[in-house]
Amino acid sequence: MIKLEIKGNKQQTITKVCNTCGSHIENLSLENIVLTGKARKRGDNGLRPIDSDGNEITREELPNDLEVSRCENCND
Ligand SMILES: [Zn+2]
Repeated sequence: MIKLEIKGNKQQTITKVCNTCGSHIENLSLENIVLTGKARKRGDNGLRPIDSDGNEITREELPNDLEVSRCENCND
C-alpha cells in the first residue's frame, strides 16, 4: 500500500510499504500514483499528467501491487 509521510510540514515522501507488517518496500514518486482527471471524476480539464519521460499518463486506477503489496518476509 502507499504511505505518505510529511516531515516538518514541508518534505513529503511517498513510499510503498507492506500491507501486513508495514515495512518499507520502495520509494515512489508522484508519477507512480497519479491518475487521469477522468479517473478522479474531474472530467476533462485539459490537464494531462506526464511521467518523467514526457509521456502522457493514462492510468485510471492504481496498479494492484500498489493497493496490496507485501515485503519478502510476508510474501509466502
Ligand atoms: Zn511484511
